[in-house]
Amino acid sequence: MTLAHGTPYLAIPGPSVMPDAVLRAMHRASPNIYAGELIELTASLMPDLRRVARTEHHVAIYIANGHGAWEAALANTVRLGEGVLALATGRFGHGWAEMAGRLGADVSVLDFGKSAPVDPARVEAALRADKAGKIRAVLATHVDTSSSVRSDIAAIRAAIDAAGHPALLMVDCIASLGCDVFEMDAWGVDVMVAGSQKGLMVPPGLGFVFFSDKAAARRREMDMVSPYWDWTLRAAPEVFYQYFFGTAPTHHLYGLRAALDMIHAEGIEAVWARHAQLARAIWTACEAWSEGGALRLNLADPAHRSHAVTSLSLPAPKASDLRIWLEANTGVTLGIGLGMADPDDPAWHGFFRMGHMGHVNAHMVLGMLGSVEAGLAALDIPHGRDGLSAAARVVAGA
Ligand SMILES: *Cc1c(COP(=O)(O)O)cnc(C)c1O
Repeated sequence: MTLAHGTPYLAIPGPSVMPDAVLRAMHRASPNIYAGELIELTASLMPDLRRVARTEHHVAIYIANGHGAWEAALANTVRLGEGVLALATGRFGHGWAEMAGRLGADVSVLDFGKSAPVDPARVEAALRADKAGKIRAVLATHVDTSSSVRSDIAAIRAAIDAAGHPALLMVDCIASLGCDVFEMDAWGVDVMVAGSQKGLMVPPGLGFVFFSDKAAARRREMDMVSPYWDWTLRAAPEVFYQYFFGTAPTHHLYGLRAALDMIHAEGIEAVWARHAQLARAIWTACEAWSEGGALRLNLADPAHRSHAVTSLSLPAPKASDLRIWLEANTGVTLGIGLGMADPDDPAWHGFFRMGHMGHVNAHMVLGMLGSVEAGLAALDIPHGRDGLSAAARVVAGA
């Protein structure tokens, strides 16, 4: 007998749960890519993607995961040897910085650790020190999915402006788009990258790069941009083929159409508010359990916590034990402790994450939390009582 029998729930921070409407939209015969409804459907995605990103500017779609979108953003904006200032609040911030280095940029990293947001004062100081204007781009991660740290992007923009520095502000919203409040134009973001498989509820395989007119001007100054990553025609195609530099990701486009319809039917502000309230329910349960002395939320201050993912620690190897127990006994899969310790280090088994991005509602979150509470009890992990009922009270007050 196992109580895991039934529909499994993948509560990792991406890929996220796929709505039935998305799955149904994708379950179809191959559409024609030369004529017919796919052409119009694709054009209809562009304004709706811009609405989610809160921008009136440009968007290019790639057949790629988030790493592809990272590379596309850099390929269009940074020349060999030019300076990049990377702001790291976890594994993904370092990953984008490493990629810029491998593309030949001169990268400096401001490391804020794994449990704190970007400090805008340090960004301003670093830009003021760049008297020669070598830095072309500032790379920031809105939500670092490894640590669940969320940084204040508007404050980073203000720091760049206070230093009077012309660098582009480029932001990784792969984990946060469609989950946490994000305002591309109002916050002065020049380039924003996202992927299909997190808040956007579509399988992995589409990467998005949104860019401002200032970033488009920078692209025109580039001597060379690798043709596949060039965003120019993708964002303003003359013929359908140019959207994707080849065959379109046919079924993903149908899935994305359905997902954007869901987001806009709910309303993006309501989507953000749902994520915020469900995140509060999760934190409340975790805080109650923490009183047992074993479990710890990675971020003490709720103001810096993501609404899409929660990183936690439990003395090693209990975090891994808990994940394994939950999957085997409840059908809930939690996320690994990515980037919080080296995978060869036994300490790695002391971290785990809950994903709560995209197609998530109260019963799913309460089911996940109830499963965690069962796991804590089954594994004799000391924990404060009534985490689940505390979370239920947050839901009750929604
Ligand atoms: C998931 C994620 C990535 C990487 O995306 P892939 O699709 O796995 O390449 C990068 N940055 C952040 C913040 C992410 O959450």
